[in-house]
Amino acid sequence: MIDTHSHIYHKEFDADLDAVIERAKAAGVSHVLLPNIDLDSVERMHKLAELYPGYCLPMMGLHPCDVDAGWKQELDTLGELLHRGGYIAVGEVGLDKHWDLTFYDAQCDALAVQFGWALELNLPVSIHSRKATDEAMKIAEPFMAKGMKAVLHCFGGSAQQAERAIDMGFALGVGGVITYHNSNLAEILSACTPEALVLETDAPFLSPVPYRGKRNEPAYLKEINARLAAALGIEPEVCAAQTSTNARRIFGL
Ligand SMILES: [Zn+2]
Repeated sequence: MIDTHSHIYHKEFDADLDAVIERAKAAGVSHVLLPNIDLDSVERMHKLAELYPGYCLPMMGLHPCDVDAGWKQELDTLGELLHRGGYIAVGEVGLDKHWDLTFYDAQCDALAVQFGWALELNLPVSIHSRKATDEAMKIAEPFMAKGMKAVLHCFGGSAQQAERAIDMGFALGVGGVITYHNSNLAEILSACTPEALVLETDAPFLSPVPYRGKRNEPAYLKEINARLAAALGIEPEVCAAQTSTNARRIFGL
């Protein structure tokens, strides 16, 4: 299994990072992809990637919730880093209409700039879209038409949005939410082609059942994979192999 979206450079993992990585390996996780957030997270992320080379693979990007007054300068700096190379993807980028709409137009501008970089550097993107999936897909559309590869991380849209996204060439990131009893995500994904699905934890957030409410970690991909396999009506081994093949194709692993 490949954890395509995991913030294990977060300080919540400082005390037991080695054990977290060991548990991930024991659970069958072959790679952990690290989305960046902003300028402050860069150093911690790089440090982690250097500690586990080839296993923890960093992305570079500006998270929509961190697009604020100084966003242009921050994006310039992150863009310089991205262009130096060594990143598996552009991420985490996107739109977030849940928290604050003050900088929504700037979020859209920052997203388009980062999609442009992804195309230019031939890198895939990891997209965060909260209450703005249609909007993010609309901004992505011309870039997708030119061959950009993209994952809608922590996909939480409707069946219609899932169908449209897959038609447009997006992959859907499947995390702990699929195990929640109050979510219809399993039902929505059961109708999707397995070739378009990848696994993720979004650790330390969104732990799957039976760890819901606790810190999430890559080893819990096992629970997510099992629930997705059940939804698709396939064996967990088959689901793990298929989602890994998908992740390898998208991220060039
Ligand atoms: Zn994230």
